Amino acid sequence: MDKYRVRFAPSPTGELHVGNARTALFNWMFARHNGGKFILRIEDTDESRSLISYQTNLLNDLTWLGIDWDEGPEKKGAYGPYKQSERLDIYAIHLQKLMAADMVYPCYCTEEELEEERQALILSKRMPRYMGKCRNLTPEQRKEKEAAGRKPSFRFKVPAGTIEFTDLIRGTMRFEGTAIGDFIIVRSNGMPAYNFAVVIDDHLMGITHVIRGEDHLSNTALQIMLHRAFGFAPPIFAHHCLILGHDRAKLSKRHGSVSVGEFRKKGILPEALINYLGLLGSSFTEGREVLSREEMIAGFELSRASKSGAIFDEEKLRWLNAIYIRNCPTEDLVKRLKPFLVEAVYEVDKIDPVWFHKIVDLVKNDLTTLAEIGSHLEIFFDDRYVITAEAKQILEKESASQVVRTFAGYLKTAGGTPQEIYLAAIKYTKEKTGAKGKDLFMPIRAALTGKVHGPELDKVFALIDKNAGLHRLHNLSGI
Ligand code: GLU
Repeated sequence: MDKYRVRFAPSPTGELHVGNARTALFNWMFARHNGGKFILRIEDTDESRSLISYQTNLLNDLTWLGIDWDEGPEKKGAYGPYKQSERLDIYAIHLQKLMAADMVYPCYCTEEELEEERQALILSKRMPRYMGKCRNLTPEQRKEKEAAGRKPSFRFKVPAGTIEFTDLIRGTMRFEGTAIGDFIIVRSNGMPAYNFAVVIDDHLMGITHVIRGEDHLSNTALQIMLHRAFGFAPPIFAHHCLILGHDRAKLSKRHGSVSVGEFRKKGILPEALINYLGLLGSSFTEGREVLSREEMIAGFELSRASKSGAIFDEEKLRWLNAIYIRNCPTEDLVKRLKPFLVEAVYEVDKIDPVWFHKIVDLVKNDLTTLAEIGSHLEIFFDDRYVITAEAKQILEKESASQVVRTFAGYLKTAGGTPQEIYLAAIKYTKEKTGAKGKDLFMPIRAALTGKVHGPELDKVFALIDKNAGLHRLHNLSGI
């Protein structure tokens, strides 16, 4: 048996949230750091909310992030199936075991009755929990309920006493059994409840460490009770902090983008997202901020994950992303940019690859996300060339128009490489007009590109077809 077996157990009820991606990342880094196994388990017992499309997206998002699993859907493994909906017979057998040991009872309460009880407890300032109404029904009473057509759920008889465990991040945790009502382990529709299925699966799959968000802390107490009821040795638990928005509330849609898919569409690189999520709320990186996957795995230490929430800072993610884009080999970047070109309605197939490679080389230092490529390319495509208000303002000055006219006039007859032409044209314009510095370059940039900012002008010039450049200047200067 492996010494370290961890799992990521998402429910396919929505897109992969960055918080869950971080849980996956922590488990994955833990497994890779320790030479253990990372298992992916799909928790799809909530039939009404689980969708196969969410599952597909989940798997794609993890793959995109580079988080690979050793066992799980689409992989073989000795502990499968790895989808809970395919393990229902296993849960049924385990329910029988607890029934035989008299640790479980059928509960016939309806939703309305349970809600009534809850409200009554809240009103009398007591903690809402199931008070055990069906715990001591006689066999006759049960028969009566069933004859009346009620389908039971099954509740676990919570034993009195303290549940204590050592959390690898939080230290000693303690929960009082008396504060916990008998909880449902199998629903009236026959489906296992989360806490029940998870215990059986974690045990049967040989999970040694359960690493997940602190929102599961109270579930852990219930799960330990079930492990004990079955006579299983519980795994070791570690509950990391959650990702928060700037207002310190749990990061949710109202804070902005929250799913891995949204960040992919925005043009965030998976390396940047992984790096950022690894940094978030942990100190194992020793203050370093740009780390490769390998470096993160090597340095990963669960005990150095923070206990208090980590605030998600999209600006910081974008800052990291710009670094990864800058460091990405141009050849590779060109490939990754393709979908974003399509998105920005460029005719990708008609673009000369050699020319495009040079452009990407030039603009990549200015990109924060891949999705920005469309706007950075505009200056190189005649049909996208537009003059911004700022550029217009510059060109309206008489001195500027003289600069542009002189520059254009020289271009008409100039020969040589684009670099030579550019340098000679600048020199000529400087001499003829007396303009220098900003007064010389700004009008030329504004006229050539339609913008007041951009990459180095000589390089831009070399990539704009001379005739196209001339055409733009002519139109402006009326030559
Ligand atoms: N399916 C649960 C969730 O998505 C898994 C929690 C756990 O790791 O046990 O929250």
